[in-house]
Amino acid sequence: MSIFINNSLSRKKEEFVPLNPPQVNIYTCGVTVYDDCHIGHARSLYIFDVIRRFLSYRGFEVNFVRNITDIDDKIINRAKELQIDWKDLVKKHIDGYYADLESLGIGKADYEPRATENISEMIKYIEALIKKDYAYQVKSGVYFDVRKFKDYGKLSGQSIDQMESGTRVEPLEEKRDPLDFALWKSSKENEPFWDSPWGKGRPGWHIECSVMSQKFLKADTLDIHAGGRDLIFPHHENEIAQAEALTGKPFAKYWIHHGLLTINGQKMSKSLGNFVTISDFIKKYRSSDILKLFFLSAHYSHPIDYSENKIDEARQALERISILIGKIGKQAGRKVVGKKIKEIEEARDKFIESLDDDFNTPKGLACVFDLINITNKRIDDFDFALNAKNAIEELLGLLGFSLKTHAALAGISDEEIEAKINERSKARQDNNFALADKIRKELEENGVILEDGKDNSAWRRKL
Ligand SMILES: [Zn+2]
Repeated sequence: MSIFINNSLSRKKEEFVPLNPPQVNIYTCGVTVYDDCHIGHARSLYIFDVIRRFLSYRGFEVNFVRNITDIDDKIINRAKELQIDWKDLVKKHIDGYYADLESLGIGKADYEPRATENISEMIKYIEALIKKDYAYQVKSGVYFDVRKFKDYGKLSGQSIDQMESGTRVEPLEEKRDPLDFALWKSSKENEPFWDSPWGKGRPGWHIECSVMSQKFLKADTLDIHAGGRDLIFPHHENEIAQAEALTGKPFAKYWIHHGLLTINGQKMSKSLGNFVTISDFIKKYRSSDILKLFFLSAHYSHPIDYSENKIDEARQALERISILIGKIGKQAGRKVVGKKIKEIEEARDKFIESLDDDFNTPKGLACVFDLINITNKRIDDFDFALNAKNAIEELLGLLGFSLKTHAALAGISDEEIEAKINERSKARQDNNFALADKIRKELEENGVILEDGKDNSAWRRKL
């Protein structure tokens, strides 16, 4: 079975055939570290983590690069506003970014290059573009000459004249064309700078991605370039122009873009007071699984609207899974029968088929929930239930779900819970109901819910 991807470049669903299978080279545009990461960033980070995981599951050897933009106008301006050194601002937010990745349960990329650590390669790249006559130097820096690159606009499907309507050249920029973009910006007073053949300055934003993707993936043509829909123009259009002008080869075979996130139908912004950071979310809900389930309920390419109601729906759905797994988990001492069970195999196949089709996670999740419904009905058929539990855990695990609130956040580990329950069972056997009640209360305070059965107690964490 093949995988199909909706390629933003061709605007068609295409069979996924990497250039050198089983290797797959993926580059995704990462964060600019001038502020805390919010749940819109979380969607981008998570969606591409899912794609990376799924391609690995399907047997590909994935090389995954996600950059960190650590020099940029936004960083310089924010540091000025806060009256702190830009390097301190960057350090604070890189630390925050890695803490967020950890609390989301999203792995690091194979490479996480930072712009400021690759300046000399960018300078060489720009020199080569000038030499090929695709770029020119003026007082304010070095610009890419978009009119020289005949395919400019192919990703966003616009002509240069369409893109140009409404834009104008700021007098100080000395550009030949309003769409020309900076490869190198001369530094103004009190701005960070690096020495270059064009004087003191810093790289433009777009150049870092062309340079670092090709450098760290060791390829002129990437298999997949990914990012948010908001980056198509001008950022990705400019990355293509730089890379293809230099190498004469296609920059990326497949372009994948995720849809954007709104909150209650509005754009998320600090001024509207609807800004939800990743750490705020985790503090409130104590589970990244809830956010993940919410993200996967929409196709990655579609917009998604965040609301407390939808998060609550995701929380309830996870609770259903948690109850089921908890119930079956109590039978875990029994041996799982290795034989394949038709309904479970079918659910797994359908799940994979759904994700093969342009990573259709809403459809994939529906297969998992169908299996959960069947299993709830057949809970007393232990062989079926145990095999189903394993399949549910495998498929949700593949999507990066932890399926439990993090022990550190919940304050009590699974082992401690089991020990408390054993202690309580003994107390009940000894008719020491005061102690049994005390332990139950203590567990409840730690977010653990007990369901007493005839012989033993099932438990689950409150999500
Ligand atoms: Zn980029």
